[in-house]
Amino acid sequence: MLLLEVLIEHAALALDRPFSYVYFGKKVVQPGYRVLVIFNHRLSVAYVLSVTPTDKTVSQLEEERGFSLNEIKDVLDEEKLLNDELMMLAEEISAKYFAPRISVLQTMLPPTLKPRLSSLKSPKIAYEAFVEIVNPDETDLTPKQIEWLRLMGREKRLRKKDFRSPSILATLIEKQRVKLCYEEKMRLVLPEYREQKPKALTSEQKQAVETITSSNKKTFLLEGVTGSGKTEVYLTLSETVMAEGKTVLMLVPEIALTPIMVEYFSRRFRGRVAILHSELTPAEKYDEYRRIARGECQVVVGARSAIFAPLSNIGLLILDEEHVESYKQDTLPYYHARDVALMRAAHFDAKVVLGSATPSLESRARALKGNYEHIRLRHRINEKELPETTIIDLLNTSNLDRESVMFSLTLRQKMKETLAKGEQIVLLVNRRGYSSSVTCRSCGHALKCPHCDISLTYHKEDGMLKCHHCDHVEMMPSKCPECGSTHLSKQGFGTEKIQEEVQRLFPGVRTLRLDSDSTKVRNKIAQTLELFRNHQADIMIGTQMIAKGHDFPNVTLVGIVLADIGLTLPSYRSTERTFQLITQAVGRAGRGDKKGIAVIQTYMPTHYAVTLGASQDYETFFAKEMAMRKIQQSPPYTYLIGLTLSSKDEETVVKTVYSLAESLVKQIGDVATILGPTTPYIPILNGIHRRVILIKYKKIEAIQEAIQKLVSTLGSKSQIHVAIDVDPLDV
Ligand code: ADP
Ligand code: ZN
Ligand code: ZN
Repeated sequence: MLLLEVLIEHAALALDRPFSYVYFGKKVVQPGYRVLVIFNHRLSVAYVLSVTPTDKTVSQLEEERGFSLNEIKDVLDEEKLLNDELMMLAEEISAKYFAPRISVLQTMLPPTLKPRLSSLKSPKIAYEAFVEIVNPDETDLTPKQIEWLRLMGREKRLRKKDFRSPSILATLIEKQRVKLCYEEKMRLVLPEYREQKPKALTSEQKQAVETITSSNKKTFLLEGVTGSGKTEVYLTLSETVMAEGKTVLMLVPEIALTPIMVEYFSRRFRGRVAILHSELTPAEKYDEYRRIARGECQVVVGARSAIFAPLSNIGLLILDEEHVESYKQDTLPYYHARDVALMRAAHFDAKVVLGSATPSLESRARALKGNYEHIRLRHRINEKELPETTIIDLLNTSNLDRESVMFSLTLRQKMKETLAKGEQIVLLVNRRGYSSSVTCRSCGHALKCPHCDISLTYHKEDGMLKCHHCDHVEMMPSKCPECGSTHLSKQGFGTEKIQEEVQRLFPGVRTLRLDSDSTKVRNKIAQTLELFRNHQADIMIGTQMIAKGHDFPNVTLVGIVLADIGLTLPSYRSTERTFQLITQAVGRAGRGDKKGIAVIQTYMPTHYAVTLGASQDYETFFAKEMAMRKIQQSPPYTYLIGLTLSSKDEETVVKTVYSLAESLVKQIGDVATILGPTTPYIPILNGIHRRVILIKYKKIEAIQEAIQKLVSTLGSKSQIHVAIDVDPLDV
């Protein structure tokens, strides 16, 4: 009999302890396999941590332990899902982020392999049958059968489905001349990219490659202005690393940027690239995952979760646009891909390259301290000038006329000129939908999400009101639900309304829109970008998704419709975010042979995030913002942990959060600052009441134990849920 220790997911409780089961069956079961168990009267998928053979009987064991032992229902796998390195990584992530190990495993594995019941219905390996000759002896065969046998001898490998005569095949199999063999079929079909020879590097690029290759340091911050050719540096470094027989992990921050990076890498390293990102179907992801695990490719390109790719012998990990916040997962286990990259690099003694035109303050501060080696690309390729920027003060009425409240005279004029020259325009609007709120003009009632208590956004395209914080959608009513008045007014604007406005101002102009609504349909983003790149549209309107990374040579005008949307949000990062957004957006203009122009519309024309973003002056911004952070004692001068307590019952949350804050002050008040409890920006999310405590600290060792204790006490209460966010971005 085998005694198993397994991890189980539980919806209500944040359990991070193993449970014991026994197994009498004959299947092989090892740590790293998934098994089916009954837990709390429900069938669950569990993940095996340890297997110990025992001579004792069940009742002996039960007596020893003081609880009853059940038998597992079945063993699900025939091989280990995660190798030793990834298992070690899971432990490290779980420890750093105070996250249950099962949540880490679920994040690490592709959907079809997650230890979760729903995974079992998902697609598994797909096989393709081939016909293979086992014995070419022609005696006793009919001429027709001989004809086929000879044909197969010439063809060598014939797919069963291409064998047009099933009855002859059946006979040949029966007479033991041929047999069927099965091979795993890959469902992801990549376009055939033409091979591309490396470009001759500029001296700056060459210098960067040389420094990274020869330095003793392991982590590098590659700070290069927009259009300085960072991608070419990544490609050359990858080539060097692969020539040593090692593998490369290339991360981009979001799916919108994967197609182009995949193309760059596939052109350079044909047939050696695997892709992992959320646009793949579960079946495709499963195939790619297995292909990587078998060592059939040397480079993996993907978004955040690709950091868990089962590559072995990693020599280089690259995070492009390292400052982008989507590298951090905003659900359990709240990990940051940059930190995970550093953990994996340590396992393999690999190098990490963090690339950006506007590094996060954290990374730049580490480079300054010498933790990372700082490498600069100061010039745009071909010494192309940075775009010429104009800041438009929307409060100054002389900048506007009655024709449009959203497009200033200057922006319209520049758009007109750009279109007349047959060049393209990117318009940035950092909000999707049509109107950001709807209120009744008669009674003042504001239409809010029933679950989150925040304004619903009107989406004209489908006539719906949508909550941008949960997945609530409802039909746009024709009358006020409170007083019945038909005078509903829509305020604010988003991408849809801007698109409509553009079409009104410039009749006949071809527009495209790209925002997270586009992620609903698989591959829609890639298609939209492709259309724009091929100049099948004149203007692309989009959210921050279009601001970074893209290289559209024919775009000469970038318009930021409202630059300060994010500045008023209560977060210590809102200034940094706004600066980055503006810098990145401006950087999209004039990347080809023509000079670029950027027009930035704002209500805060003198705010340093706006002015320094406009001039792409990262240096001054860094100095200024670091000084602010020092005064506020915010990161990178301190570290933060956010504790969000939530419950259906408001009173329970309030009571618990106050007693928790009190006990934290008692326990770690001398080594950390306990801020709060506070009511978060969105106090009710999905019908759940939330309160937040923020812990500000300098050394994790001093508070680790207290947090750990808190996790285990609160984690086992079903009426209250605690989410621990290490290095939170939204506080
Ligand atoms: P970044 O990511 O730094 O903003 P990219 O990597 O997108 O910049 O490069 C900008 C443009 O310059 C791209 O069109 C790229 O093909 C081109 N480029 C990069 N390196 C070279 C080079 N050494 N010679 C010629 N063109 C280059
Ligand atoms: Zn009303
Ligand atoms: Zn909501």
